[in-house]
Amino acid sequence: MAGRVLSVASECVPLVKTGGLADVVGALPGALAGQGWQMRVLLPAYPGLVDRLGGAQQVWQEADLFGAPARVLAGRVAGLDMLLLDAPHLFDRPGGPYSVDGRDHADNPERFAALSWAAAAIARDGLADGWKPEVLHAHDWQAGLAPAYLRYHGVEGVASVLTIHNIAFQGLADAGLLSALRLPGAEFHADALEYYGNISALKAGLVTADAITTVSPTYAEELMRPEFGLGLEGVIAARAERMHGILNGVDTAVWNPETDPEVHPFGLRSLGRKAANRAALAAEFGLEVPGPLAIVVSRLTDQKGIDLIPPVLEDFVAAGGGLAVLGSGYPQLEAAMRAAAARFPGRVGVHIGYDEALSHRMFAGADAVLVPSRFEPCGLTQMYGLRYGALPVVAATGGLADTVITANPAALAAGAATGIAFHPTDALAFSQALRRLVALHAQPKLWQSLVRTAMKQPVGWEMSSARYAALYESLCH
Ligand code: ADP
Repeated sequence: MAGRVLSVASECVPLVKTGGLADVVGALPGALAGQGWQMRVLLPAYPGLVDRLGGAQQVWQEADLFGAPARVLAGRVAGLDMLLLDAPHLFDRPGGPYSVDGRDHADNPERFAALSWAAAAIARDGLADGWKPEVLHAHDWQAGLAPAYLRYHGVEGVASVLTIHNIAFQGLADAGLLSALRLPGAEFHADALEYYGNISALKAGLVTADAITTVSPTYAEELMRPEFGLGLEGVIAARAERMHGILNGVDTAVWNPETDPEVHPFGLRSLGRKAANRAALAAEFGLEVPGPLAIVVSRLTDQKGIDLIPPVLEDFVAAGGGLAVLGSGYPQLEAAMRAAAARFPGRVGVHIGYDEALSHRMFAGADAVLVPSRFEPCGLTQMYGLRYGALPVVAATGGLADTVITANPAALAAGAATGIAFHPTDALAFSQALRRLVALHAQPKLWQSLVRTAMKQPVGWEMSSARYAALYESLCH
C-alpha cells in the first residue's frame, strides 16, 4: 500500500536552511513519491515565504493558536507540496528561524509547540481540501511535541514517526510553561516530558512516537550510549525496538560530476578529466602538491574535529600531501586554519566562508576529503567525496562508519575499499590514516581502482526511501 504523510519541520530546502535537516526534509517528498507516498511538508511561514507559494490556498485555521489567530496555506514551491503555518505573532519577525543577533527567541518553546499543535490538529481532522495523512513524520525537537499531542489527546488512526537529526538540541522549556504549551501536568515525570526539571520537546517525541528514526544505523546504536546520547540514552535504549537507523542520501542530480556546471565534467568512463579539476583547484588555492591533495568542507567546530588538523599537518605535508580548507565557524578554529596556511605556503590553503559553488569545484579536484568528526549523525561531505572520486578519510563514527569501507587488506583484496576510516578520533589515529592515504596514492593502479569503486557507490535516496516507505507501511497495519 501507499498513502499520505504529513512531514513537520522547522527548515526545508529551498525555503529555509541552517543545516542538513533542511536538505533531508526537502529531499524526502521526491524520494517517497517514487515509493507511492504523497508527502506534504508543514513549515512555519517565516518572513517572505508566503509570497513564494504558488497557487496559495487556505486549508486550515485556528482562532487562537498560542495567543492569536493562525492559518495554514497550501501551495507548491520547487515541486514540493508545502503547507505554511501563517502565524505572524510567532513567525513574522527579523532574524533566523530560531534567533536574532545570535540570541534565541525567548518564546521558542511556544513557537514550535504551535507548529507541533497545528500538525497534530491537521493529522486528526484533515485539511479543508479533504487531505488527511495516515502518518505524521516529525523532525527534531521543533516538531517533537506533535506525536505527544496525538498521544495525549487519544488521536487514533494516525501513526507518528520522530526523526533525530541532531540530539544536541532538545528544545528545553521551563516547567512553568506546561499548561501554556497545552501539555498535561500528569505527564510531567521522568518517563515522559520531564528532563532534569525542565520540559523537553525532543524527549516528549521520543517517548510518544510510534517509531523513532535517526540518520544512520551506527548513530542509532551510538545514541544508546552515554557519550553520544546526551542524557537521553536511557530513553532511547528503552525504545530500542522502535528505533531505526536510515541513512540520508544526497541529491545525485545536483552532485553529478558528469553534469555539474561548476566543474570540468568527468565520470567513470572519463576519469582522466578529473586532472583538469585538480589543476584548477590547486591554482585556485595557490597550491603545488606532489602527493594527495586533500580538502575539508565543513563547519569549523569541535564536533567536526577541526582542532585535530593542525597537529597532523607537519607529517602529511612532509610526505607530499596538501590541503585546501573551506569553512567557517568558531573564531579560534578559523584562526588555526589561517595559521596553518601561513605555516605551509603552497601546501595548505584556506578559504573562510560559505561557498556552495567552490565546494563543488573542491570535490571535483580533490584526491581525498577529510572528515575527522567526533560524532556525525550521517554526514554528507564523505558522500560527495565518494561520488566525485575524492576518497573519504573519516573518523569511524555514525554515518561516516556506515558509508566508507576502509582500505584494510581484506577490503583491498575484495576490491571493496572506498576510503580510510580511523578510530579513535584523535590526532594519532588521524595521522596514521593520512600516512596510509599517502601510501595508497603512491600506487597509481591501486589508487585508480579505489577511486572507481568509490564513484560506483550508491549515495542517492533509492535505498533509504524504500526503508522509510517500509517503515510507514509497517505502522499503518
Ligand atoms: P552538518 O549538517 O553537521 O553541518 P553535514 O555533512 O551533514 O554536516 O552537512 C553539511 C553541509 O553543508 C554539506 O552539504 C556541506 O557541503 C555544506 N557545507 C559546510 N560548510 C560549507 C562551506 N563553508 N561552504 C559550502 N558548503 C558547506
